[in-house]
Amino acid sequence: MRHFSFPTLSVLLAAAVLALPACNQSGQRPASAGDQAQVDGKRIERADREPGNWMTHGRTYSEQRYSPLQRINDDNVDELGLAWSFDLQTKRGIESTSLVVDRVMYTTGAWSIVHALDARTGRLLWSYDPKVPKAKAEHTCCDVVNRGVAAWRGQLFLGTLDGRLVALDAATGQVNWEVETLDATLPYTITGAPRVVKGKVLIGNGGAEFGVRGYLSAYDAKTGELVWRFYTVPGNPELGFENDAMRMAAETWNGQWWKLGGGGGTVWDSMAYDPELDLLYFGVGNGTPWNQEIRSPGGGDNLFLSSIVAVRPDTGEYVWHYQTTPGETWDYTATQHIILADIEHEGRTRKVLMQAPKNGFFYVVDRATGELLSADKYINLNWATHVDMATGRPVEVPEARYKDAPFTLVPSYLGGHNWHPMSYNPDTGLVYIPVLDMPAAYAQPPEFKYYPGVSNIGTDGVIGGLPDDQAERDAIGALMQGRLLAWNPTTQEAAWAVEHRGPWNGGTLTTAGNLVLQGTADGKLVAYAADSGEVLWDFPTQTGVVAPPITYEVDGEQYVSVNVGWGGAFALVFGEYVQSESLPNVSRILTFKLGADGSLPDVDWRPTVVFNPPPLNADQATLAIGHRKFQDFCMGCHGLNAVSGLLIPDLRGTAYLWDKQGWSDIVHGGARANKGMPKFAEHLSKDEVQAIRSYVVQQAHRGKQLREAAAGN
Ligand code: CA
Repeated sequence: MRHFSFPTLSVLLAAAVLALPACNQSGQRPASAGDQAQVDGKRIERADREPGNWMTHGRTYSEQRYSPLQRINDDNVDELGLAWSFDLQTKRGIESTSLVVDRVMYTTGAWSIVHALDARTGRLLWSYDPKVPKAKAEHTCCDVVNRGVAAWRGQLFLGTLDGRLVALDAATGQVNWEVETLDATLPYTITGAPRVVKGKVLIGNGGAEFGVRGYLSAYDAKTGELVWRFYTVPGNPELGFENDAMRMAAETWNGQWWKLGGGGGTVWDSMAYDPELDLLYFGVGNGTPWNQEIRSPGGGDNLFLSSIVAVRPDTGEYVWHYQTTPGETWDYTATQHIILADIEHEGRTRKVLMQAPKNGFFYVVDRATGELLSADKYINLNWATHVDMATGRPVEVPEARYKDAPFTLVPSYLGGHNWHPMSYNPDTGLVYIPVLDMPAAYAQPPEFKYYPGVSNIGTDGVIGGLPDDQAERDAIGALMQGRLLAWNPTTQEAAWAVEHRGPWNGGTLTTAGNLVLQGTADGKLVAYAADSGEVLWDFPTQTGVVAPPITYEVDGEQYVSVNVGWGGAFALVFGEYVQSESLPNVSRILTFKLGADGSLPDVDWRPTVVFNPPPLNADQATLAIGHRKFQDFCMGCHGLNAVSGLLIPDLRGTAYLWDKQGWSDIVHGGARANKGMPKFAEHLSKDEVQAIRSYVVQQAHRGKQLREAAAGN
């Protein structure tokens, strides 16, 4: 790892170069350096005394995403209108939570670009582009997204897609310092928002689909020096262990996982902090490969995969963990949003931590000790019957491990709940969960070879893909569901639910005005009554929404703001279920207030595929090779079975299907590496690259015939 301590010549040079695009585009200095974003621990701990601000990712260290503001409420929310919008100028996914501190909004778009705006008007104060190389897209499982910045004592902290932690002057967007948080030769990425606790900037990373060893790092906010690092899975035991926690974890692994990419267990999103207990909590992701038969033959719990871990924020010292999915083998991460609250449990108020991880169980855990208090299904999952309260472990359905036969699992690898933040309203006592409800088929692969730097999930990509028969595809489509679920964590049952069109909807915000706000895949921002789920208001966003709304107040006026723009894992992979009603990605910040009547300019295009394939002249054996290789190497970005979600070109419509050499130059030779299309010369032969082309030609004919049949030709 490269690490620069400030001030060194390297940092000064880097700052000089990186500061170039950060000029103040409005031509005015918003304030003198150091005046802005003067957030510290006391202010965040007392966030309810200044509810007009949204100073940290989940608004408070408890990450409840509950606002005490109530000028906008269930009586008047139907008077909400568009106050201003800001174009984020990207057609890739938008997942960020904006911060608002003392009248200024700080937000991020795709490719880790930061914007500071006047929170009342949307006027741009400055932008900062970290110039992430587009080739880094090859190491993203789930789009080139970013979920936001952290603010602390006049600085903003950004984790860039290519793994840098950058400290910006909040007043100007100038770089104060920047460090590499990871080995840039490995397929790590950063998409999550940093948090700052006790002057330490906390940042994790992603990459467990490809093959990395996960960890969380803490950097000194002033200097950028590394203070501590907590690995989530053990390295090669022969090299010794970093700490006792790793020694304990290694007892739960078999085989030589460190040779297959490093075990996984990335800390790519959730964190929360309890100042009273002085415990920092974070969620840990899936293993590399997903398939435990390959990763850790013979089983084992594989700590700390799929776990919630509590550490001391000063030192990174391990305190406790709770593993949601021992021996995970389905991409069942526990990186989902963690909420801290004090709720009733068996007649008394307990300090709890709540999570609805991918595996489909809602967990209530004592956050002082890690003791499991309750767990129940928040969707109709089929991989386990229940969680045994005596052991705290799920009771699995044995076939779900797909050792001897394929198994169709609910929830899928996208989870019953993904990164989209949930929220907790202490007035209603309910948690508002953006639920995904969809199946996925898992099977042992015919063979497995670990290839450094590319997807290494270790399951059968053909069985995990779509069936050829369209009626079967449509039947699966009917199972692709999503809903807003209001969950009572005390009784572990649903209070109400609203069904959505498709699984991939926005994160949630709840307020003291008896409101829940959520954006949807089909292009709306909706306000619901928090107690009943009644729809009170909606606004057409012209594009799918996955990011969570926030609310803030300036000069006695309350605003609701949400970053819109469709994207992320489902949008990339499940084109079959996206395309029929696909909205364009129009990435914007939309900000609302009572009585405003702004409107959005018309969007005069819709994404589509123009089919013009060459004749299909490959034999069945070639097509079978092309099919498998497409599923193993291409579908993560270009969509299952070559049906794209249209954020990335649908290969069935490309003219390169006619151009064998041009196709080879791109796929084998890397001619478009600088646009984000990786080079596959090390993973695929030229014959295999042409077999993939033939498979895509076949799928283009299939798509063309279906469209003609639908049009009645
Ligand atoms: Ca994953």
